[in-house]
Amino acid sequence: MNTVNILGVPFSKRTLSDTVALVQAQIAAKDQPLFHLITANPEIVMAARSEKQLQTIVDEADIITPDGIGVVLAAKWQGEHIPERVTGYDLLIRLFEEAKQHNFTLYIVGADEQTNAKAAEIIAGKYPGVTIVGRHNGFFKDGQEEALVADIGQKRPDVLIVALGAPNAERWIFKHKSRLHAKVAFGVGGSLDVIAG
Ligand code: UDP
Repeated sequence: MNTVNILGVPFSKRTLSDTVALVQAQIAAKDQPLFHLITANPEIVMAARSEKQLQTIVDEADIITPDGIGVVLAAKWQGEHIPERVTGYDLLIRLFEEAKQHNFTLYIVGADEQTNAKAAEIIAGKYPGVTIVGRHNGFFKDGQEEALVADIGQKRPDVLIVALGAPNAERWIFKHKSRLHAKVAFGVGGSLDVIAG
């Protein structure tokens, strides 16, 4: 088995490198449905227990990575081994770093307008293998959300990152999953703020 079940959440036992390789394989694959990756911390595990819709989102995710040492320790108490944490930020940076060999298109949703624009500028400047095909801040006004979903669906990015905070990002991806036409989508918490500095 490639997963460890912690309170109803099947956590991946993959290392960061193996997870990056899996994402790259999804990007390379053709005609696959959107691959929803969730980086889950103990808060999401607890919230899913009391919130039915969140449990459904977790159940339907394609991979759930251990975001936090608490998850790694919980696995240990069960006599299982999770090699390391796999956070959204680490995953993102590794994908960017390896974009020289494995280039991809990226759509960035989330954070305030200034942070989103700055993060996009920094990523484009630092990682030429990453082509940003679209971006939008995470504070939608009336009507903007519908137009955004349509734009993502039309641009068909390899990777869609959503920084709306957890678990809002996961809910948003799940809600629009069938219309996004991205190959891989995941929530990244405050990663855009970190990148933008
Ligand atoms: N965010 C957003 N729209 C919202 C709420 C939050 O774009 O309606 C962004 C926020 O600006 C930040 C990111 O979501 O860039 C992560 O927020 P937070 O640190 O609260 O989330 P967490 O790290 O707890 O997942």
